Amino acid sequence: MLRDQHILRIPGPTPIPPSVQRAMNQPMIGHRGNESKQLIERIKPKLKPIFGTNQDVLLISGSGTAGLETAVVNTVSTNDEVLVIVTGAFGDRFVKICNTYGLQTHVLEVPWGEAVKPEQVEQFLRSHPNLKGVFATFCETSTGVLNPIEQIGKIVREQSNALFIVDGVSAVGGAKVEMDNWSIDVLVTGSQKAFMLPAGLTMVSVSERGWDVIHQNKQPRFYFDLTSYQKKLEDDSTPFTPALSLLFGLEQVLTLMEEEGVENVFKRHQMMKDMTRSAVHALGIPLLTSDEDASPTVTSIKPDDFSAEDLRKAVKEDFNLTLAGGQQHLKGKIFRVGHMGYCSPADVLQYIGLLEIGLTKIGKEVPLGAGVAAAQNVYVNREGKHVL
Ligand SMILES: *Cc1c(COP(=O)(O)O)cnc(C)c1O
Repeated sequence: MLRDQHILRIPGPTPIPPSVQRAMNQPMIGHRGNESKQLIERIKPKLKPIFGTNQDVLLISGSGTAGLETAVVNTVSTNDEVLVIVTGAFGDRFVKICNTYGLQTHVLEVPWGEAVKPEQVEQFLRSHPNLKGVFATFCETSTGVLNPIEQIGKIVREQSNALFIVDGVSAVGGAKVEMDNWSIDVLVTGSQKAFMLPAGLTMVSVSERGWDVIHQNKQPRFYFDLTSYQKKLEDDSTPFTPALSLLFGLEQVLTLMEEEGVENVFKRHQMMKDMTRSAVHALGIPLLTSDEDASPTVTSIKPDDFSAEDLRKAVKEDFNLTLAGGQQHLKGKIFRVGHMGYCSPADVLQYIGLLEIGLTKIGKEVPLGAGVAAAQNVYVNREGKHVL
């Protein structure tokens, strides 16, 4: 096996395009000089269509969780009543952050593998009129569910005065989002998922309504104080030394997305989801999530007659194909394929083909090629026949 050929299909970190890798190799520049200013000036407008917003997108050094904590400390303060919608491990993380800051945290939890239903949120809001924030996960990476953020946003806006705060770490850049139209007040993402970069950069955008609350909020915060990022960004700068190499890479990522067309980026992710799911269906293997709830960026597969861990081991050994396992109580019960960022329909055919071989190796009999053929059919019969 070619040891340096690593087929990384986990839901983050994800592979990095060669041109992005090269961009990140640029020599350092001064972070208070003109080069940095111009770099941020070029990046700023290109981020907006990916978030679906007219607001600026703030750049903070830190992994995605830093962005989640930023969202919490800026929008609410100790003893405030909040709701966290939990559909898996990352919803759980929001609960932990809220508890860390002494909030009165209500949890609306649905079984892992399902999306929350907008009616459930509506009902909860009716009986809790004092909520200051509603926290939700767009793509719940631990299960592969895409929550109905558009509908929830509408309900939150109509039924309460709470801010609507969304973890979009494994969705933004792969799934269509319209922050402004969907009434999202804070949208957070990270660099190492659909953004095709290494971990280390979190991106946060805030609605006008969100800013009004943030400016009034007395909760102590320093590094994560969004008002200082806002003020500096007006000058195309950051309050602290930015992760410049990641910004070099980000500019190239945004160029790639612009060249492909942002709408086409989203269509490509939908296609990869559909190809993957129909291949797994064709192989007779159960999926964790329903077609309606499934995310375009990650697919969870829940075998009933073979071991998910054995399969992961087999494809790792033979092909250096890395798949993700399950988290918490789903550990050992599911495996997850990340198909986001630097991933195309061609890559889907590759991992489906390799999965079929892996299944044969661990003694699960499948008709070789059946999954690949199903995925090929999805591509060949796609609507509009646009190139993906
Ligand atoms: C990856 C991820 C995060 C952030 O994790 P970090 O390890 O801190 O980057 C947060 N939310 C979701 C939904 C994620 O997939």
